[in-house]
Amino acid sequence: MAILVLGGAGYIGSHTVYELIDAGRDVVVADNLQTGFKAAVHPKAKFYQLDIRDRGALDTLFQAEDIEGVIHFAASSQVGESMSDPLKYYDNNLHGTMVLLQAMVAHGVDKIVFSSTAAAYGEPERVPILESDTTCPTNCYGQTKLAMEQMMSWVSKAHGLKYVALRYFNACGAHVSGEIGEAHDPETHLIPIILQVPNGQREAVSVFGDDYPTKDGTCIRDYIHVTDLAQAHILALDYLMKGGDNNIFNLGNGVGFTVQEVIDVARSVTGHPIPARIAPRRAGDPAQLIASSEKAMKVLGWQPKYNDLPTIVASAWAWHKSHPHGFEEV
Ligand code: UDP
Repeated sequence: MAILVLGGAGYIGSHTVYELIDAGRDVVVADNLQTGFKAAVHPKAKFYQLDIRDRGALDTLFQAEDIEGVIHFAASSQVGESMSDPLKYYDNNLHGTMVLLQAMVAHGVDKIVFSSTAAAYGEPERVPILESDTTCPTNCYGQTKLAMEQMMSWVSKAHGLKYVALRYFNACGAHVSGEIGEAHDPETHLIPIILQVPNGQREAVSVFGDDYPTKDGTCIRDYIHVTDLAQAHILALDYLMKGGDNNIFNLGNGVGFTVQEVIDVARSVTGHPIPARIAPRRAGDPAQLIASSEKAMKVLGWQPKYNDLPTIVASAWAWHKSHPHGFEEV
């Protein structure tokens, strides 16, 4: 029996595949390689290049492989892009998940762990955020992820599918082996963008807004190492395998850092002055997102290992320094 990882060539997906294979699991990866990289797929995983909106391709895969559970990362994930091209998000995220669930129901595969997001909450009513807090997304990306959660809930009632939604806060860092790390094209995430400056690929960092109601006016986020996120997927899958019911878990460190503080940490990790310029706010950004992950710790036994920002940024820096062009060969 194998675990199917959809989007297993992407950032969090590829790190999860590495952890699954290290744990001795059989893994099948499917990815359309639109944003993922074949080189990020663990050599021991079986690979299918397919788009989850392609029902025929999914049918072929489910017929050929003995799949006991699915981990679903295959989605578009950029806040800014979701505001300028919302229909792309409805198509790839919602329509894609609908086709996937149709195929899972048809083939009797009834367990799924999937990437949700802190963006499902919108501007939080309090921090740290609990899973039971109000969900009112401020961007289309978060809206589609919340709708994916709701879709699974209805499919569960009708067809008995069991799901765990993992609401990630800000994924960052890179695998300890140095073989895989964060690579998006174009890059939009804060830590890799900051590290482009000491890597000689960018003059300065733009800080999107310094007039938020936070201690230094810049947005606060909760940064969590990708390997800790990856571990949570394995725990969530095991929880479902042992008969656990549908559930939603936040995954973060429970500590918030401002954009300015992240830049300061990167300056000290890299020894580079990293110039920063204040720029306008980015559409759809809540002022602060900090997780309470106590539920994941209690129910899943999740214990994040990389809980300090300098260590996380240092792991990202090791990857970016050795792979200035990500997985692309130049
Ligand atoms: N950010 C920034 N400059 C950049 C990229 C991001 O100031 O070049 C800010 C962004 O507005 C947000 C935080 O950094 O407040 C984290 O953004 P990211 O895109 O990494 O993750 P998100 O929180 O959107 O998932």
